[in-house]
Amino acid sequence: MAEFDLIDRIRRRVHTRDDVVLGIGDDAALLRVPAGRLLVVATDTLNAGVHFPEDTAPADVGWKSLAVNLSDLAAMGAEPAWCSLSLSLPGDDAAWVDGFIEGFLELAHAHDVALIGGDTTRGPLSISVTVHGFAAPGCALRRDAARVGDDVWVSGSLGDAAGALVQWRDGGTRDAFLRSRLDRPTPRLALGVALIGVANACIDVSDGLLADLAHVCRASGVGARIELDRLPGSGALRAAFDEAGRHALQATGGDDYELCFTVSADLRDEVERLAREAGTPVARIGRIEADGGVRAFERGGAQWHPDRAGYQHFG
Ligand code: ADP
Ligand code: MG
Repeated sequence: MAEFDLIDRIRRRVHTRDDVVLGIGDDAALLRVPAGRLLVVATDTLNAGVHFPEDTAPADVGWKSLAVNLSDLAAMGAEPAWCSLSLSLPGDDAAWVDGFIEGFLELAHAHDVALIGGDTTRGPLSISVTVHGFAAPGCALRRDAARVGDDVWVSGSLGDAAGALVQWRDGGTRDAFLRSRLDRPTPRLALGVALIGVANACIDVSDGLLADLAHVCRASGVGARIELDRLPGSGALRAAFDEAGRHALQATGGDDYELCFTVSADLRDEVERLAREAGTPVARIGRIEADGGVRAFERGGAQWHPDRAGYQHFG
């Protein structure tokens, strides 16, 4: 199957938006940015075997490749509009492309995101997506504005995807819920927009909570204290791992795509209310401090140190 036939299989299925003047089919797309708004752009690449197990269903690869990008827009408090898709494929596998684009467009349609172009080449399986969205000037949620005394919050649950990866590597029991959290992360777009004007800083958790919160702390010139027993954990994670294993997965495992954000401590009720409206659970997990980096503490108050030797495959 020729490159153009593959592109045509994709083009036949995309939906469009009023602000797409010219989509797939020309040398470039023509797009109308709403007057007075900032264009927000993010790109993320998924490589087979690195960012998803080789046995991942094509539809799940499609979903995830867009989800991780939309998660970046969510973490900025931006509203998504368009995306482009660069596909490197080892062969002209039409069935794989059909499956992939089904999962990709399922998520795109759910958020009214139009696929407006891309590139299709032969090579190792790799998917690179760029998303475009909008934010009002001065309103984006950034990493560099956490303040001493802020509460640290996180959405959803942590450690599910990393737990699925451990199960997949070990063989044995493989929990379907944990695997779905690895394959089909939920970009927290409604929560991100709701947090504008409320959160001081925000990031999405892709490389592990402590690592990503450390980015916020470095950019903001502050430290953070995290209480391990406050980290939200799903029932499936609790059933599959003992407390020590679970804490390690929640604090250092990757691929959560939850939002971690800091908010002034006098806005706790407001955060709870906004999260309810957005339909996204949130948990208050710690506090921003003046310095000391990012430190995690166990229930009794002892400082916790990640077992790097045991979990370096997440590093
Ligand atoms: P060019 O040679 O001008 O770069 P291409 O042959 O790469 O054009 O692409 C033709 C059209 O198809 C362009 O509009 C491009 O954006 C679109 N396109 C190519 N690959 C993809 C893809 N994987 N997903 C969506 N659109 C694509
Ligand atoms: Mg091209």
